[in-house]
Amino acid sequence: SALRPYNFSAGPAAIPEPVLRRAAAEMLDWPFPDGRRSGMGVMEMSHRGEAFGIILQQALDDLRELLAIPDNFRILFMQGGGLAENAIVPLNLSHGEAASFVVTGGWSQKSHAEAGKFCQARLAANAAVQDASGATSYTHIPAPESWQLDAGSRYVHICSNETIHGVEFHQLPDLAALDCNAPLVVDFSSNVASRPMDWSKVGLAFGGAQKNLGPAGLTLVVVREDLLGQAMQHCPSAFDYTLVAKNNSMYNTPPTYGIYMAGLTFQWIKAQGGVAALEAQNIAKAQLLYDFLDSSSFFSNRVDKACRSRMNVPFFLADESRNADFLAGAQQRGLLQLKGHKSVGGMRASIYNAMPMAGVQALVDYLREFEAKHA
Ligand code: PMP
Repeated sequence: SALRPYNFSAGPAAIPEPVLRRAAAEMLDWPFPDGRRSGMGVMEMSHRGEAFGIILQQALDDLRELLAIPDNFRILFMQGGGLAENAIVPLNLSHGEAASFVVTGGWSQKSHAEAGKFCQARLAANAAVQDASGATSYTHIPAPESWQLDAGSRYVHICSNETIHGVEFHQLPDLAALDCNAPLVVDFSSNVASRPMDWSKVGLAFGGAQKNLGPAGLTLVVVREDLLGQAMQHCPSAFDYTLVAKNNSMYNTPPTYGIYMAGLTFQWIKAQGGVAALEAQNIAKAQLLYDFLDSSSFFSNRVDKACRSRMNVPFFLADESRNADFLAGAQQRGLLQLKGHKSVGGMRASIYNAMPMAGVQALVDYLREFEAKHA
């Protein structure tokens, strides 16, 4: 709305305003769908009571519908974020044996490193490029045909959208076509629900909620049923997918408020026309920004066109001595949190589902003016 600036944060990130307003209206007294008052806010409810049961089931049903999750996949609401899943996945799927990692940016690199504590973490491909100054950059996705997929791997890990480096898989790899029978594990923290998901290629997907789904503290795991029941002996019970699934995400107290907020976000996505409608919006938003960056002689994005992220757009000023000036001007215009990740530098605009086209347009207008003044 005109009252709030545009928030380009990479996460925790902007939440759709109607979701925040609804949560505010229900903060003190959540109403049942049939009009009865619960007499309490969602944070104050027992997770085992009637009211929260309704909230949980609605969230599960809406998410399954929105992402077209097949019946043979279980939806788990967990805690610990994407980084905890880097350990929880090998504890559940690896048997302490091999797993293969495709490193396309900082997040898959972290996944590979963490899994090494629990299994034999193999590097199937590494897109890291060292520049002359010794800095690491990631700007491409190695062709799946070139991946070294270890025959004994219990799973193959990719990050479908590298939040820091702005590198996104626009098509999930088809491991079967690469003669690999291992399930594909996808970290979709930063592009979940921004586009439809081809579950036929996936064994497990996980993501923190704090970009496209709601507040931090909730982790979404979608796992194919045949992958349950294999956790290692020392896997913490609260992180054993089988126990979590058996107890409908209530083995321990789930992050109830996060589930409620995600549920409101799912309803908002449905009201926008679903994930396919949001994808069309996301394509248009990303194109507006990348087209400007490509036409500019002052601003640039360095990622291969074939794998540029629709969600996170890193960009650089030709004259980096103007970075602080650029950020101050942006702030003044109501364009917030554009500073790039410290490992990349420059700027980054995160334009998740909740960022309207008008926000991207306002950013491009500012970029154009800044360039005219300083180039
Ligand atoms: N994976 C990806 C793709 C991410 O963007 C992030 C967070 N930015 C993480 C993992 C780590 O998530 P968390 O901080 O919730 O553990």
